Amino acid sequence: MRLLLLGGTSEARELAALLVEAGVDVTTSLAGRVARPRLPVGKVRIGGFGGVPGLRAALTAYDAVVDATHPFALGMTANAAAACTDVPLLRLERPGWSPDPAWHYAATHEEAAERAAALGARPFLTVGRQELARFTSELGRRAVLARVVDVPGLELPAAWRLVTSRGPYALDGELDLMGGHRTDVLVTKDSGGTYTWPKMEAARLLGVPVVVVRRPPGPPGVPTVHDVEAAFDWVTAPE
Ligand code: NAP
Repeated sequence: MRLLLLGGTSEARELAALLVEAGVDVTTSLAGRVARPRLPVGKVRIGGFGGVPGLRAALTAYDAVVDATHPFALGMTANAAAACTDVPLLRLERPGWSPDPAWHYAATHEEAAERAAALGARPFLTVGRQELARFTSELGRRAVLARVVDVPGLELPAAWRLVTSRGPYALDGELDLMGGHRTDVLVTKDSGGTYTWPKMEAARLLGVPVVVVRRPPGPPGVPTVHDVEAAFDWVTAPE
């Protein structure tokens, strides 16, 4: 079994470790977005495939594909669904966070920017480097604290402060960071998982409102599981 594992998530690294131990020939694919990616065990390839045609050509070297990319990695997930016509494909998508009635949900990042502008003057943006441009017009004059893994290419508004770091995060650090900035609104994607959850807990403790960008719908027609064990079973004991 030669498996292509579309990665870039902690679940993909966990799955790679389990499968390699079970003797599966796993190649994890990373987009190459971050300067120093956390590498999984097993083989690794880095960089885009060149759209659906490039992915389709690459698939001749594999027997199955697991798409374990981030819930907001829409392009890769759509390409996998389109390219995997002759190769079995499984989507592994971690569950979103259990909704809190106090959260303000937004359908898009633009809507999240509007919501945040209405709620506070000192937003904490944790939506990722690639989405920051979608907040600059609405929040350009606010005292934004933006947290990213790598510095964005985009020139940020003068009123913004950037911090670079990578999860997992701890509650104490989140309380310090958000309290130190006098954050009055937090903006996040519904990423799910534990790595970035402490900011949500910190917001609750500090009484800071939270704007949550809803997840896009999953790929239609693609079998989907929500935990690493189920993905392991699919690969090692397909029906
Ligand atoms: P995206 O918008 O869905 O993908 C854009 C293009 O990047 C894809 O069409 C593909 O290029 C390439 N690409 C994306 N993921 C790839 C992968 N695992 N292996 C090879 N090429 C990949 O992706 P994104 O949102 O920028 O995310 C990039 C990576 O970061 C993903 O692996 C994802 O799991 C991880 N990540 C994303 C987020 C997020 O919030 N979006 C958060 C944490 C981690 P080609 O068309 O040339 O094949």
